[in-house]
Amino acid sequence: MASVEKHYDFIVTGAGAAGRSFVYQLLHSPLKHSRVLLIDQERKQSDDRTWCFWESTPGPFEEIVHYSWPKLWFHTYDYTRQLDIAPFSYKMIKAADYYSYTDECFAKHKNVVSIIADVASVEELPDQKGVLVHTSEGDFSAPWCINSIWRGTIDKSKVQYLDQHFKGWFVRTKEPIFKDGDATLMDFRVPQHDDFRFMYVFPDTPNTALFELAIFSNEHLSSDGYDEIIRTYIKECWSHIGEFEIVREEQGVIPMTDYSFSTRNGPIIHVGTAGGDTRASTGYTFLYIHRRIQRLLQALAKGDNRLGDLNWFDQRHQYYDSLMLKVLAEKRYPGDQLFARLFRDNPPPRLLRFLNGESHLPEELALMSTTPIPVFIRAMIGA
Ligand SMILES: Cc1cc2nc3c(=O)[nH]c(=O)nc-3n(C[C@H](O)[C@H](O)[C@H](O)COP(=O)(O)OP(=O)(O)OC[C@H]3O[C@@H](n4cnc5c(N)ncnc54)[C@H](O)[C@@H]3O)c2cc1C
Repeated sequence: MASVEKHYDFIVTGAGAAGRSFVYQLLHSPLKHSRVLLIDQERKQSDDRTWCFWESTPGPFEEIVHYSWPKLWFHTYDYTRQLDIAPFSYKMIKAADYYSYTDECFAKHKNVVSIIADVASVEELPDQKGVLVHTSEGDFSAPWCINSIWRGTIDKSKVQYLDQHFKGWFVRTKEPIFKDGDATLMDFRVPQHDDFRFMYVFPDTPNTALFELAIFSNEHLSSDGYDEIIRTYIKECWSHIGEFEIVREEQGVIPMTDYSFSTRNGPIIHVGTAGGDTRASTGYTFLYIHRRIQRLLQALAKGDNRLGDLNWFDQRHQYYDSLMLKVLAEKRYPGDQLFARLFRDNPPPRLLRFLNGESHLPEELALMSTTPIPVFIRAMIGA
């Protein structure tokens, strides 16, 4: 590892999904010789999350995709469909693989220095002199800080806000019962309790699968509460599973909101969850982090002061997200029925492009015509 100096071209505060994506993509860009300091309060090694997303082309982390699925099930109590999602595939990356893969890459580059330190604050220096980052290991300066540490608070009474809270079981069965074709994107066959609740199931070997329960609501359950729902779901919908053990669990919360996150304060560029890269209607974040960082690096390399921010027309996807979130958060239409309509009346790639913010206007109009239009119009005008 290179020695720790005091001044860099970029200081990256937070070495999670976004901080690492920035450094990794920088090393594969025209800015690859920049001197970078990457700071996190902990050494990231554990499999603390599993990232899933869909895309139609290989992404920057294709080498560590743990598994990908070309077809996915969608279920409600009265509608079932297997979705052929080509040209997309649904991909899973394990956090431990992501951390070790990026660490190995950074270790090969003398211009990247990683340290473990608590970042106390990031100070913008006067006269466009960049930033001074105050940490438990001393102060460091740079023209730019790429920050993924969230320090704000969201006044939930002023915005649409729903937590996506979830718990997953990684199970191993005694018999080889899972097939590739069993992967399930959304299964609403769990009691909704006036919320928006669904299971997803992703088998990665004939004996192992992730069963995860996601709930969109601001009231969280106890750990046992999630377990009970997952157990009942497996008993009712996977009755052929036989004996199984839970080898690992994952639990977390993703805030879904139309809060206007600041993407930049002068030389401090906010990325990841802290920079508003989470999609308000689905909670998916991982793919949008890499895309945003790709645009950011292209802009930095060209000296483009817009720093890869989307133009007003491309920002329409954020408006769709916020409208969908409003319909769900204000319970204007049952979420399971809304998604059943969307999956029943649209070709899956159209819907997936829409949810990824990749759709074009004609497709968006076609998709909107399959929604309960009066509900969305009332949400739009606040009636
Ligand atoms: C369990 C879980 C599963 C998820 N699954 C998916 C998924 O399947 N698909 C998807 O698209 N999104 C998913 N997400 C949402 C999102 O992709 C992740 O939260 C992602 O990790 C966000 O990246 P980030 O860099 O913004 O934050 P993080 O990855 O959390 O990184 C922030 C970093 O900042 C560090 N830090 C914080 N404070 C300090 C400080 N004071 N000093 C120094 N360092 C500090 C933290 O240690 C951390 O490493 C999931 C989230 C969770 C919690």
